[in-house]
Formats: sequence, structure tokens, C-alpha cells
Amino acid sequence: MSFNSPRVLWQFLRRELIGLAGLCFPPVCPLCRQSLPTSATFCASCLDTIVPVASPCCPRCDLPFAAMDGGDHLCQSCLQDPPPFLWAKSAGLYDETLRRAVQQFKYRGGFNLDRPLAALMKEALHGPLGDFCPDLLVPVPLYVTRLRQRSYNQALLLARALGRCWQLPVSSRLLLRTRSTPPQIGLKAAQRRRNLRGAFALRRPLRGERVLLIDDVMTTGATARECSRTLLDGGAGEVAVAVLARARLHG
Ligand SMILES: [Zn+2]
Ligand SMILES: [Zn+2]
Repeated sequence: MSFNSPRVLWQFLRRELIGLAGLCFPPVCPLCRQSLPTSATFCASCLDTIVPVASPCCPRCDLPFAAMDGGDHLCQSCLQDPPPFLWAKSAGLYDETLRRAVQQFKYRGGFNLDRPLAALMKEALHGPLGDFCPDLLVPVPLYVTRLRQRSYNQALLLARALGRCWQLPVSSRLLLRTRSTPPQIGLKAAQRRRNLRGAFALRRPLRGERVLLIDDVMTTGATARECSRTLLDGGAGEVAVAVLARARLHG
């Protein structure tokens, strides 16, 4: 086996060390530390509290509706201003367990959550992905200063884990964030979109590829819209979006 870069060597060593640790210590749930059967990603009680987005929801942006009755229909935002992506799909609601998982994954050095969380996304995407057949996976990028603070991009870790599952290429440097954007918390959808306008660029043009954009959380969808627009303007044929968690916009 040859290692053509320190990163590849490190990934190999990390995997081997994790395998060795698995022999010495029984596997535990990465969220609650309960012991786990070897093949499980999370324990049954954590999995039970991950709530998938269920009908009625918006088939375009995966937004769950507050009312429990009625069928799926386009949300107000997708009706008034259709998003540039074909569809968005999440592994579950950005509630209790997935919120805790995302916080641990992003801010508490929980990069070992990449594969279990990607496994949840893979399961949720089983249906829609079959029809879409992406040519490549593109993670939502972080601005360079944010990347330095955090030392890794959680969307890239998810994209890599999914790329390994599906044997698809991941373009980690294709899409870049050209400027730092103010925090989006507390802003309405229209303000978020204004905030992000022109914040992304492509390093090279595309030639009609079908792109699956990967991110951890979707709230108003402003980031997914802006990234998708940048990819389509740069020559992508179609864009769909896969996120780990979908935030509710109501109560
Ligand atoms: Zn657990
Ligand atoms: Zn929608």
C-alpha cells in the first residue's frame, strides 16, 4: 500500500487505530455511551428519538408542516420563489437527538460521528437518490477563517463518508465560500438570502454534471439555494440537496 500524502497516511492510521481500539474496548453509542452490538451505529434508544420528516411536508425542501392532517404540498417559500435545487432530503428533524449529535459533531470534536450520521442520511436517501443518480457530491464549504477555528468542515466529513458508501467522487474544493457571512440565527428567510448573495464561487466550470449538495442542517434553505444557484450558473446540469437534519420553522 502506498501513501501519497500525509493526509492519506493519517486516514489509514486513524482507521487502523479505531479498529485496534474496537478490539480492546467494546463499542459504545457515540451519543450516550451505552454499549452497542458491533454492527450498530447508535443505540436503540437514541435511534428511537431521531424523528424522520413525515407527511405532511414540502416535497421540494422537506419542510415539515405544523398541521398533522392533509397531504404533502409545496410550502409558501417554494411556491413563491421555487428553489434552484430539484429536491432536498434529510435524515430527520433537527430536534433533541439530532441537535445534540450536530452540536457534538461540529463543536465538540466529534468527528468520529461522520460515519454513523452519514449512515442515517444514506438510509433516508435510498428512494430519491435512485432516480437522481448524482455524478458527484459537493459539501457546503466553510469560510477559511471558520475552517481554521473548527479544524474540519462537518459537511465535507459527511460527504466523504457518503462518497465511500456510494462509490461516488467528492469534490471538496470545487465550491468555495468567498467571504465570511454574518451569523444567520434570528434572521428571516429573505434576510438570510440577501446575506448570502454572491458568497460562493466555483473554482472550475462544470459540464452538465448532476450534483448532490451535502450539508449538516437546513433551516430556511438559504444556503442550499445560494450554493445550488452557484453550481447551476457554473454549468451543473441539476442539483439536489442532502442534509442530516431539517429544522422546523414553526413552534
Ligand atoms: Zn445512544
Ligand atoms: Zn418547500
